[in-house]
Amino acid sequence: MILDGKALAATIRSEIAEATAAFVASSHVVPKLAAVLVGGDPASEVYVRNKQRACEEAGIDNVLHRLPEDVEEAQLLELVAEFNQDRSVHGILVQLPLPSQMTTAKVLQAVDPTKDVDAFHPENVGRLVQGKPRFLPCTPQGIQQLLIRQQIETAGRHVVVIGRSDIVGKPIACMLSNRGIGGDATVTLCHSKTCKLDTISRQAEILIVAIGRPKFVTGEMVQKDAVVIDVGIHRTDEGLVGDVDYASVAPLASAITPVPGGVGPLTVAMLLQNTLRAAQLSHTA
Ligand code: NAP
Repeated sequence: MILDGKALAATIRSEIAEATAAFVASSHVVPKLAAVLVGGDPASEVYVRNKQRACEEAGIDNVLHRLPEDVEEAQLLELVAEFNQDRSVHGILVQLPLPSQMTTAKVLQAVDPTKDVDAFHPENVGRLVQGKPRFLPCTPQGIQQLLIRQQIETAGRHVVVIGRSDIVGKPIACMLSNRGIGGDATVTLCHSKTCKLDTISRQAEILIVAIGRPKFVTGEMVQKDAVVIDVGIHRTDEGLVGDVDYASVAPLASAITPVPGGVGPLTVAMLLQNTLRAAQLSHTA
């Protein structure tokens, strides 16, 4: 089975558009996302544009502030502080990566946790770890929704996550091991220092790969009938490819995400979900 993230994202986005319209009708508040893009990284430009378009389609107001590549960190922090104060802004997104003169952690910590729709603020990470999330980070949330909605059981199953980034690997490992629907899995988290990676990855009933290396996971690393979720995105001469070597892994897998059209579109859908949630939370606060 090919896990069609694009189709599922379209379904989720239309659900969010309906929920947004209902919220606006009852509250007279229009959810609003403020995004900041520092510099002109071409991939970031594409991501930000996709996010803006998705907001528009869902009836979510959005503004994009561009800052030059060489901007001082203090100026970015000032802009974030303005968004924090602005009651019409419900979600704040600082597009990563930031240029080298910035300390990413410091910038992400400056975002008001109640507007932190990426869920990168330490308060939101802590809540996630404790199983009481305010927001779920977008890419892991997209993966979990894909598993839930495709009725892929996670409870009691062995999930192997390759990659321990703060954005994908660590939070998805945490979410799948938390109690509840789409959780209760037994999770092994692997990284570049993991010994015998292929032996461990072959034990996975569900294998999630987020390492940033094109076609790294090959058929020899995957057990028959595993569910394989490929988070990687790489622009190569042969087009977009993932961290998984689709040609050798797909024939073995019981289900697999394609690249493109797998996890990527779900990430955007979940940003909309979080922005609507931020607006709802601020309205009831
Ligand atoms: P990252 O921050 O670069 O982290 C990569 C992780 O992979 C690290 O934990 C690293 O281990 C581990 N790793 C690297 N080489 C390895 C190896 N040979 N064996 C085992 N582990 C290895 O990555 P990320 O931000 O999570 O992104 C991963 C990929 O997903 C990238 O291609 C990115 O573009 C893509 N991505 C896609 C989406 C989406 O929406 N689809 C969202 C985010 C990211 P160490 O910690 O030991 O260094």
